[in-house]
Amino acid sequence: MATRTPHVLIIGAGTGGLCLAHGLRRAGIGVEVYERHRHRADGLLGYRVGIGPTGSRALRDCLPPELFEIYLATCARSPRYFNVLNQKLHQTASFPLRPDTHPVDTERSVARMTLRQVLLTGMEDVVRFDRTFTRYERNDDATVTAHFADGSTATGDLLVAADGTHSAVRRQYLPHAVIRDAGTINIATRIPLTEHTRALLPPAVQRGISLIFGTGGVMGVLHVMEFKWDADGRLKPNVAPAEAALLADWPGRHHDSTRDNINLVVWSTARRFPADVMHRRGSELIQVALDLTANWHPHLRELLSRADPHSALPIRVSTSEPVPPWLSSTVTLLGDAIHTMTPGRGVGANTALRDANLLRRQLILAAAGEKTLVQAVADYEAAMVPYGFARVADSLGRSGTSGDDRMYKPVFGRLALLGARGYFRVTSQVPRLRRKFVDDFYTYRGEED
Ligand SMILES: Cc1cc2nc3c(=O)[nH]c(=O)nc-3n(C[C@H](O)[C@H](O)[C@H](O)COP(=O)(O)OP(=O)(O)OC[C@H]3O[C@@H](n4cnc5c(N)ncnc54)[C@H](O)[C@@H]3O)c2cc1C
Repeated sequence: MATRTPHVLIIGAGTGGLCLAHGLRRAGIGVEVYERHRHRADGLLGYRVGIGPTGSRALRDCLPPELFEIYLATCARSPRYFNVLNQKLHQTASFPLRPDTHPVDTERSVARMTLRQVLLTGMEDVVRFDRTFTRYERNDDATVTAHFADGSTATGDLLVAADGTHSAVRRQYLPHAVIRDAGTINIATRIPLTEHTRALLPPAVQRGISLIFGTGGVMGVLHVMEFKWDADGRLKPNVAPAEAALLADWPGRHHDSTRDNINLVVWSTARRFPADVMHRRGSELIQVALDLTANWHPHLRELLSRADPHSALPIRVSTSEPVPPWLSSTVTLLGDAIHTMTPGRGVGANTALRDANLLRRQLILAAAGEKTLVQAVADYEAAMVPYGFARVADSLGRSGTSGDDRMYKPVFGRLALLGARGYFRVTSQVPRLRRKFVDDFYTYRGEED
């Protein structure tokens, strides 16, 4: 088989696109990434992302080894408990999680902006900012040309849509694909972590992922994010020397203003929010969260009232429907661009990273002449579509992620809430069920279905 190393164009410098770009570059495959944001510190939806074994494995496989070490060093302190709370901060259940001694097989809390800066490290010559993709065309010589809003173009052998939920590539390539509103809205806030705000939280909450099942169909999730640098950006004194050396030399620190914080997200069915919530910002948006949580513990409400107004973000949650099979070609998709999912299982970014790693492996085979480029894409899609849409369905099925969930019905809602709390209570108290819950927590976020 005649071989020619493919040149790959990636649309979107998000989690999946940048991971793939690293993996291809390390394999000697030409790659360029086009991103609509104007600068490396622009944009972002929300603050914390949980990276489990799937995501960390993909990063380990794709990133240069030293950059993977920087990724590990820039993660926030890992959660030690998965807690379920009620709105009064009473603990319904608490599951101890695994220690983070293994680089991959653990749950890591990552700040989105920090991860972006890690993934942009060393890619300055590959990523083109301020290039909004508008359309593509196929050429007679089997190449693909991407067109951008500024009138520029780029031509390559393969076009990869890594441009997220509202993918412009998908709109042209798979116009029949359905992305829809899941019917829930999140308000994400970030509260500076100080001795005072830390003291508002019980110890297990300070060290865990805490899911809040409130009455009246209002839910929340809380993470305490503690990094290895202080409020002035200086390394904390207890950082191990090897990590301190890595971080001291890492140029990404100069582009990242992330500091220790408490990440508190409040969500409910869209029906519970004012009609203009997506246009509200700052203290007006925080007030919406406070209105929804009037019966929550005063400490949780104090946290909300101390949220940085610039941090408050409304997020309308989307999901997707399985796309009927299509004929593979020199255009393909990864991550949210093909299988947008609700945050129900917290695996959207992990799945985008898994896609990137799988597509990387297939493209290496094509570059080695073991299969054609289109066959490599077909083999990638044959695996990615089933696991991707399985994750979409699982995520939508989680309590409270769909606006139609029983949790939001007037009478059934109370029963559903009791049922959910009862499930977590029993599961956390029976050793066999508790072990299975924790194993599933990782297995689910692992590579195999
Ligand atoms: C509240 C919330 C919490 C979540 N928590 C988790 C979690 O804990 N764990 C987890 O695994 N997942 C989580 N997710 C999901 C996760 O954020 C996404 O699935 C993941 O970011 C998708 O990565 P991606 O690379 O496909 O797209 P993105 O990271 O969205 O990247 C897309 C990129 O494409 C760019 N772009 C878009 N259009 C264009 C264009 N026309 N031209 C050029 N560039 C373009 C965008 O600017 C962006 O940089 C959460 C999601 C939400 C909403």
